[in-house]
Amino acid sequence: MESRKVSQRLGRVADFSEPNSVRSLAVEDPKIGEVLDTDAGVYLNSVDVIGIDRSAVLQLRMAVSERLRSKPLYRCAMCHTPVHLIATLDAQRFHFRHLVEDGRCKAKTRDGLTYAQMAARKYQGLQESEPHKRMKRWLQACLAADETFCDVATEKTWRSVDGENWRRPDVRAVRAGLPIAFEIQLSTTFLKVIAERRSFYLAEGGLLFWVFAQFDDGPRRLTQDDVFFNNNQNAFVITPETVRLSVECNALHLECVWAEPRTDGQAQVLKRKVIAFADLTLEPHRQRAYYYDYDGQKEALDAGVRRSFESFWVEKDRLPTEEREARWRQLRQELGRRGIEVPRYPGLFPESLLNGLYSAKLGRSVNWGYSSFIQVAHRMASEQKYLKYFREALLVYDRSALIRQEDKSRLWQAKVALYKRALEQGDPAYDADRTHERLVAFLFPELKLQRIFGRAPASSSTA
Ligand SMILES: [Zn+2]
Repeated sequence: MESRKVSQRLGRVADFSEPNSVRSLAVEDPKIGEVLDTDAGVYLNSVDVIGIDRSAVLQLRMAVSERLRSKPLYRCAMCHTPVHLIATLDAQRFHFRHLVEDGRCKAKTRDGLTYAQMAARKYQGLQESEPHKRMKRWLQACLAADETFCDVATEKTWRSVDGENWRRPDVRAVRAGLPIAFEIQLSTTFLKVIAERRSFYLAEGGLLFWVFAQFDDGPRRLTQDDVFFNNNQNAFVITPETVRLSVECNALHLECVWAEPRTDGQAQVLKRKVIAFADLTLEPHRQRAYYYDYDGQKEALDAGVRRSFESFWVEKDRLPTEEREARWRQLRQELGRRGIEVPRYPGLFPESLLNGLYSAKLGRSVNWGYSSFIQVAHRMASEQKYLKYFREALLVYDRSALIRQEDKSRLWQAKVALYKRALEQGDPAYDADRTHERLVAFLFPELKLQRIFGRAPASSSTA
């Protein structure tokens, strides 16, 4: 409200002193609102292209006209027809017009297209851009130089085995029997396009391999991240240097950009290195290709923390106070970095939950000093909030034989019958306490926690 008043005031002043040149030279509401700059491979607002400088726009008009029939400078964003820059009758304003006006363009009736349709058209248009063509030439030259690739083809139709679908990858090649579709990722590729291609090549037993023209450290486009995070946090860039190297060594080289899991809580810094394609791990069944195994490394780090936690928990009551506190502090920090909160002191933690789960995992009493496992089970039966966790653990760690063998008095069996009835009736006293759900999920990834949350369906109550 306030700023509008200010601009109105400024506007009145400007009417008096403002030179004409600060007003756009574009017509109001142009029919072709957006054009593809084929040299740069970007979409631009036509009002911005026309700009405010009369001398510049007249030179641009000339350049556009000269290249119109050979290598058009601009194309309509919607139909990709080359466009030229024309002036209004009084020669005061400018706008773009299709070279061929045959009615197939939807630019005039943009409302008729959904966002996805417009996105798809814009994506197709980029294939016509110079950076895209250059990347394709580069990629093809690299593959042609590398003997481990055969059947290198550009823009060749790839028909599905059932003959019903087809794609036309930028470049396709076969390496050690694996058909690979190389797709060049420019500024605009939409998640839907990425997802459709992934499933197509997955079904085909091929591998979709994205190649970028650049991959920045800073904030990236969402579409870059859609590829990056679905490819084990590795991205591949083709540059003049990698092309030179590939041709020189007769082996496809690319710049790999990857992330490594951080354990110090610091911000992510991307690593970069020129690598040979032969050094990559290819996983067609997951549509992944990577140099650095982010997920594997992360899992190894997590497994280390999981092991330290277990050894700490199992022996914590025998540790000197100082050591116990120091180790807990460290574990607490490691967990905190993974978004898992635990109390400041282990004594503040509901011990029966973890004692019960580790006992089930190891098949013996942990921390409680019971001489038999069945005593653990009896104890956990009274821990109603954690009983479902415990039962899941008994199932996963397969402790039923051990329990049967130790339940000579059949007391446990009787207890099971009782609590099973309560569970079937949805007794809220047995609802699992989810306070430490994330910790349990992290420490015991083999447990299927989704099985224990929520009550048993009402239909299952039989008695
Ligand atoms: Zn058009």
